[in-house]
Amino acid sequence: MSTRPEILFPLFGEITGLEGVGPKTARLLEQMGVKRPRDLLFTLPHGVIDRNIRASINQVTPPCTVTVEVEVLRHQPSTRRGGPYRVQVRDSQTAFQLVFFHARGDWLRRTLPEGARRVVSGKLELFDGVAQIVHPDHILPPEQAGEIPPFEPVYPLTAGLGQRAIARAAQSALARAPDLDEWIDASLVEKRGWPSWRAALEAAHHPQKTQDLSLQAPARERLAYDELFAHQLTLALARARIRRKKGVVSKGDGRLQALVRKALPYDLTGAQRRAVAEIAADMASALRMNRLLQGDVGAGKTVVALLAMLVAVESGGQAVMMAPTEILARQHMESIRPLLQAAGVRAEILTGRDKGEGRAAKLAALAAGEIGILLGTHAVFQKDVKFADLRLAVIDEQHRFGVRQRMELGDKGRAVDMLVMTATPIPRSLALAQYGDMDVSVLDEKPPGRKPVKTVVLPESRVGEVIDHLKRAIDEGRQAYWVCPLVEESETVEWTAAEERFRSLRTALGESAVGLVHGQMPLAEKDAAMARFVAGQTRVLVATTVIEVGVDVPDASIMVIEQAERFGLAQLHQLRGRVGRGAAQSSCLLIYRPPLSETARRRLEVMRETDDGFVLAEEDLRLRGAGDVLGVAQSGLPRFRIADLETQADLMKVAQDDARILLRTDAELSGARGQAARVLLWLMEQDQGIRLLSVG
Ligand code: ADP
Ligand code: MG
Repeated sequence: MSTRPEILFPLFGEITGLEGVGPKTARLLEQMGVKRPRDLLFTLPHGVIDRNIRASINQVTPPCTVTVEVEVLRHQPSTRRGGPYRVQVRDSQTAFQLVFFHARGDWLRRTLPEGARRVVSGKLELFDGVAQIVHPDHILPPEQAGEIPPFEPVYPLTAGLGQRAIARAAQSALARAPDLDEWIDASLVEKRGWPSWRAALEAAHHPQKTQDLSLQAPARERLAYDELFAHQLTLALARARIRRKKGVVSKGDGRLQALVRKALPYDLTGAQRRAVAEIAADMASALRMNRLLQGDVGAGKTVVALLAMLVAVESGGQAVMMAPTEILARQHMESIRPLLQAAGVRAEILTGRDKGEGRAAKLAALAAGEIGILLGTHAVFQKDVKFADLRLAVIDEQHRFGVRQRMELGDKGRAVDMLVMTATPIPRSLALAQYGDMDVSVLDEKPPGRKPVKTVVLPESRVGEVIDHLKRAIDEGRQAYWVCPLVEESETVEWTAAEERFRSLRTALGESAVGLVHGQMPLAEKDAAMARFVAGQTRVLVATTVIEVGVDVPDASIMVIEQAERFGLAQLHQLRGRVGRGAAQSSCLLIYRPPLSETARRRLEVMRETDDGFVLAEEDLRLRGAGDVLGVAQSGLPRFRIADLETQADLMKVAQDDARILLRTDAELSGARGQAARVLLWLMEQDQGIRLLSVG
């Protein structure tokens, strides 16, 4: 299985082996991402030109391509140099004009003799109310009209490449496509009315009407499904491999959880309770847990993680939770520690800052099993960090963790159950695409009593008013974040902007009222600034996006974001999620620098309209496309050529179920359908899946 099946060789040969593809065309195709015949098969026409002969141009609405038989009435050569040469013609119902520029009169008289009948095909347009075809694509005597194809596919092109060349090459690639055994579940094929792979390609490359171009056309849908299925099969293989590793059975007795729940100042939401139950059930099974906890900002993921970690402790083991930043790890510690004291569980924090004897002591306590719960940054996964009996690893706020990285983490040898938490709601299709190897719990219910954040969008010219507003708010005892522009090209510019804003706000609001944190600050200073803000000593915290994730300061009820147009929707949502946690009415001020691009305007508008993270995520997907939402490079998400993640979420779900079922019945993909599925993995270049198969 580690070599490509022979039946696919013709599709993976040189592109120049195709008819009419010389080195020049090959270079142009390569610019479109087409390197081998296989790529051309999956480059489908995005249009179709109907060239069926009509009785009259009256049957179509210009502008539109039309093919009609006409009688040539009269030539009207141009009256000035470079002017149009017109030929008056008449079809069975109406007269119109053929128009030529820079054409030779003698050629035109030969091609279109007055009084003769001709079939002409081209784009009909209205010019000053007169119907005309400029430079028809085809002019033929009626007896040769059969040479005009009734339907002509229109392929995506790059400059320098013509329709005829690409159509011919695609035709030649199609001729090389072998019949392949079916890899899709037979009942699904039947239910959906899908053609075979080979027939689907034929049909998709030869559309006959506009509906044939739609994603719902059976041929296209099937080809899209192939892509999704190949991807889900890879994820399912990854999932199966993780689950095959024997997990540890962790059955909590609920004693510690009960103590903590009693110490909580609130009741769990239904969604939180469900998530805890799902996690506990996974941990109690002998299979290894690989679960995603998805919940909007403020949905209350931390306490779910805490209860899960207590399951590990109750069953005599340990748990570890990794946060992406030191600030966050500390904050988790602060919120969790009093609860754990109520339960008599020892928790410690471990970050890159722990050094020397202090660190050694912590590691010793950990190895001796004296520490039940360890919180920290990625430092908790360093080589020399040894646990007495680690049962559960929680990874917080790591939505940029790709499939591959998760697999690496899972490969670290420990059979620990894994819980990944993400605060970035992602559309269902993307969740399936990126986390298809995991089981998912969703917190789709916010804790009660949250007031929606009032969001206002305003231009930079009104910054003065915003500062006045802040002055009053501070007097009322409120706190605010002030987020400075995101500068992707340069961190230096970013913190310079932050420091400038910091100085100007100090002048306006008073020296002691304003604090500053940014990524370039020494850790100790950053922590101190954060701590002063949390304690309420500073009232306004000027920050770069370091505060984006996780930080929870209930008294902060105002979020100002400068040059908000530079931020993505997900980021704006994360930032706004920092406020609206306490009892006070919160507000979010989005300040932009005109002029706004169309998508930026739309982004800010959507922010004002909704604070539902899932709605925002769907909108984000529409505005940016899947690759950008996840960051294709990090996510390991393939670029689908045919499937569309925005509209085919349901199909993705079907593919996931289908892939998991197939592996359940044929884990090694050795049966007839399994063999066919292996060929699909090769065809779709799912290297990861293929590797998983070969290591077994
Ligand atoms: P996130 O999901 O963004 O990580 P957190 O876990 O930080 O959210 O929780 C946000 C806030 O909501 C915290 O202050 C937490 O104490 C509070 N909270 C969590 N669950 C509930 C609940 N069921 N009822 C009321 N408040 C809750
Ligand atoms: Mg959180």
